[in-house]
Amino acid sequence: MEVFTENKTLTAALRPYRVSKKIGLVPTMGALHKGHLSLVSQALKDNDLVVVSIFVNPTQFNNQGDLVNYPRTLHKDVTLLKTLQANVVVYAPEANELYSNNIVSKNYNFGGIEREMEGKHRQGHFDGVGTVVSLLFKAVQPNTAYFGEKDFQQLQIVKKMTAIEKLPVEIIGCPIIREPSNLAMSSRNKRLNPQELKAAAIINKSLKLAAKYFHEKSISQINTMVANCFKDSSLSLEYFEIANEKTLKTVRRKRKGVSYRCFIAAFVGEVRLIDNQKLS
Ligand code: AMP
Repeated sequence: MEVFTENKTLTAALRPYRVSKKIGLVPTMGALHKGHLSLVSQALKDNDLVVVSIFVNPTQFNNQGDLVNYPRTLHKDVTLLKTLQANVVVYAPEANELYSNNIVSKNYNFGGIEREMEGKHRQGHFDGVGTVVSLLFKAVQPNTAYFGEKDFQQLQIVKKMTAIEKLPVEIIGCPIIREPSNLAMSSRNKRLNPQELKAAAIINKSLKLAAKYFHEKSISQINTMVANCFKDSSLSLEYFEIANEKTLKTVRRKRKGVSYRCFIAAFVGEVRLIDNQKLS
């Protein structure tokens, strides 16, 4: 399986596919797990060739410690992708290559969704995400790109960025893949010890609780129930929000005809994990 680190060689390798074949892109930061592989499987179903990008994007980290400690396992990732025995190539550029020696974010106006939840708690995060995805789209020029609903807000940001920049890429959202404990799979889980992994199950348990009582109880009662779950645990809750699924704005009172989703971010020691669930 080929691993490209330069835009020039990647462009040359993709050229034969441009005329009549479809190219799918799965952008990742590596430390691949079954969640990533589910995106690759979907991309393989829809395309003739799949490019998996592996790039830990410096401009989307607001916390230097998180960037430094982010797991980097390129060799292992490539070995794992090889086992698929499919038409997959890896694009793993250095930051200066992808950013053409100018490693800064663009300033986007995503219409407000960038200021909710992750945007509130991670200053500049979505400018970094928009910038890197735009650069990846320009380097790979895929027909279709795949993103997980695990990062639901990011998925909406990518759709907006693609529309703003008028990039001819179809964005496909893919369902969240979970551990047997229902903890959402994440590269950051690799930083947890067995005890922390077990404790982290409370993240999804609390979302399930919110979903169970969504129609019976008020939003403020649900918020209190979730906060109480965390009082008895070793995790620290950063936010829990029930939001309008379209605007991602926090909801205080339910209205008919509106779709809702709940979102959570919590720390297990120093490791920050997120999850979300549709409410229906
Ligand atoms: P990351 O490497 O964490 O930046 O993730 C790369 C892509 O994989 C993003 O679109 C994520 O939303 C997606 N992803 C990560 N974890 C999961 C998961 N557990 N289930 C589905 N998609 C995921």
